[in-house]
Amino acid sequence: LVRLRSRLSRSQNSLGKGLLSLLSREHLDEDTWEEIEETLLTADVGVAPTQELVERLRTRVKVLGTRTPDELRGLLREELVELIGTDADRTVHSTKHEEGPAVVLVVGVNGVGKTTTTGKLARVLVADGRKVVLGAADTFRAAAADQLQTWGERVGARTVRGPEGGDPASIAFDAVKEGIAEGADTVLVDTAGRLHTKTGLMDELGKVKRVVEKHGPVDEVLLVLDATTGQNGLIQARVFAEVVDITGIVLTKLDGTAKGGIVIAVQRELGVPVKLVGLGEGADDLAPFEPGAFVDALIG
Ligand code: GDP
Repeated sequence: LVRLRSRLSRSQNSLGKGLLSLLSREHLDEDTWEEIEETLLTADVGVAPTQELVERLRTRVKVLGTRTPDELRGLLREELVELIGTDADRTVHSTKHEEGPAVVLVVGVNGVGKTTTTGKLARVLVADGRKVVLGAADTFRAAAADQLQTWGERVGARTVRGPEGGDPASIAFDAVKEGIAEGADTVLVDTAGRLHTKTGLMDELGKVKRVVEKHGPVDEVLLVLDATTGQNGLIQARVFAEVVDITGIVLTKLDGTAKGGIVIAVQRELGVPVKLVGLGEGADDLAPFEPGAFVDALIG
């Protein structure tokens, strides 16, 4: 939590601080509520959730009458946590089962932090005593397999890779096969991020999933989104969701943005929980997403 707070507060004008100062104005007139709405929209919260939040805040502030800064902070915290949701299943399903190792596909467009996230996640799992195999199925970017293998060597996980420009599905298939042979707990597959056409992506990602499923079920499809790209991330999310069943979202680069509201918008868009957040480039900079801690970090 301390790290989350320090990382998020690096970005100036955090969402919560702006809202708190607006809410503590002596007169909460129409203009102020409009400013509150604008602040939420600027932070990428999205139109529908913003309207919902403002409506609830207005009602509660009215009922409350006098407002101390502590009361306002508590109110804002409660409503933001409520909006993010506390009952979603945010665990990354990575435990071995009867069919073999748990299979986690990591998907997303080029540059969002897929490979880094896969490496960080491997590190967390290995530290937890799991045996992990990595599949370097991102054959789009020439250096991706090397980058993943470096992570693998660093954290103690074998990396299965194919020839340069090889078929992602066949690499994914081989990685799961290797995972079964080694009795691994988890196979993490870093996929390619080609998004020039939806059919292209559908063909490729759909094939990866189908081929992997010849071995057994896919336990998680984690969609990696770069929090700094705002609305663009939402568009990507929509396209991916049409192609595969996303089971969890990883929001990377939250350390580099004041727009934490994207957490709310993307969950709303996909109906899928944010499970992990990336808070930096380092090996330890991946954290489970916890709504209460996140909102505390946001409000400061
Ligand atoms: P990929 O193309 O999706 O596999 O992207 P990479 O994993 O290669 O990451 C692209 C860049 O983003 C690299 O420079 C990473 O170090 C950086 N990156 C990834 N995750 C984070 C994060 O959470 N915070 C920050 N600041 N940088 C990140």
